Amino acid sequence: MTPEVQAHVRGSAALFDRAKAVIPGGVNSPVRAFNSVGGTPRFMVSGLGAYLWDADDNRYVDLVASWGPMILGHAHPAVVEAVRSAATTGLSFGTPTAGEIDLAEEIVRRVEPVSRVRLVNSGTEATMSAIRLARGFTGRKRIIKFAGCYHGHVDALLAEAGSGVATLGLPTTPGVTGAQAEDTLVLPYNDLDAVRAAFAEHGPSIAAVITEAAAGNMGAIAPVGGFNAGLREITAEHGALLIMDEVMTGFRVSASGWFGVDGVAGDLYTFGKVMSGGLPAAAFGGRADIMDHLAPAGPVYQAGTLSGNPVAVAAGLATLRAADESVYRALDDNAARLGSLLGGALSAAGVAHRVQTAGNLLSVFFTEDLVTDYAAAKAAQTWRFPAFFHALLDHGVYPPPSAFEAWFVSAALDDAAFEQIAAALPKAAAAAAAAKEPA
Ligand code: PLP
Repeated sequence: MTPEVQAHVRGSAALFDRAKAVIPGGVNSPVRAFNSVGGTPRFMVSGLGAYLWDADDNRYVDLVASWGPMILGHAHPAVVEAVRSAATTGLSFGTPTAGEIDLAEEIVRRVEPVSRVRLVNSGTEATMSAIRLARGFTGRKRIIKFAGCYHGHVDALLAEAGSGVATLGLPTTPGVTGAQAEDTLVLPYNDLDAVRAAFAEHGPSIAAVITEAAAGNMGAIAPVGGFNAGLREITAEHGALLIMDEVMTGFRVSASGWFGVDGVAGDLYTFGKVMSGGLPAAAFGGRADIMDHLAPAGPVYQAGTLSGNPVAVAAGLATLRAADESVYRALDDNAARLGSLLGGALSAAGVAHRVQTAGNLLSVFFTEDLVTDYAAAKAAQTWRFPAFFHALLDHGVYPPPSAFEAWFVSAALDDAAFEQIAAALPKAAAAAAAAKEPA
């Protein structure tokens, strides 16, 4: 840690107390608060490569990667230089810039079904806008989403959402009115019969099906048995759009996201995380005839003062340009190596578990059964997770602070980082084995 950073260190516990006085719950996004695992959230002061340092001067191997974006590791020199260079020429103009075209072209080049892109500031904005566009394009009102899939905190999409909503055990949230949610049909993930039945009943009023291209917000659950291909077929048959939410999987699980894994083409796509390089940027895109319904080309309004911000665009572009084949190979290898260490340690400690993967996303379910939907994810022994989590944290490894979140590797994880993980895991597995189910 540099002396400048050291001078500001106050300790996580003290910082959390200070934060709670001025920020609701002390955090700006709920899962950060450690509510489901207990204890004090770690306030980070710096990150470099595979590691994070907290305000108490502890170092951690980072297995969250800012919830996905940091595939290259922290403070990657090419990304830092791109940001520095963009910042010195102006932070925001509120006009078009060439960098926005570069980033849009890079996305279009990588994801074949996407031929137009609109940049926004968060994944939430991307899914909200994609849904508005789908409704505007089709003239229909209903949306199908899947239980346990999280698409950001869009009012209409919070019903039975995963991620923080799952972590906090909220069935839904106050502040979302019946009217905002009544056009959302929530179905079990990986259940094509339920989708067919919903279309049989409501087909002419369904504008779109939105799905995580592979689910990562109820733990990692890949689409099984041709689920995505089935969604493609059913939506096409009924004139509804298929929205592939690739905010989490996009540009992480392959150069072209989950599309590069199963080749099922959506009509619209949402992106965020990796393509932001760690700054606030996201995007939605898709078929030209649909996207050209957006203002000013078409009638569906969508806008943003800071959309396409030059510094965020520079960070995203530098990240994508640095993410070559060797980076994707490293992500896959690192996920496989982490998965086998996790499985080995839990088996040795006699803990019933399943390390599930969706491409290079992975997570641990404390059950022997294959988990294919939200009901099964919730039925696992999630009460073992806090002990497992804290033992890892105490031994210098930072996993996601929730049983319902995916673990994110970076390409920066090296042998030394894996040695630290391997040393921590037996203690964590023993803690998980010793955990007691709450009465
Ligand atoms: N969609 C998916 C699949 C996500 O995982 C997330 C966030 O985790 C979002 C949308 C929302 O993105 P943001 O947090 O940038 O609003």
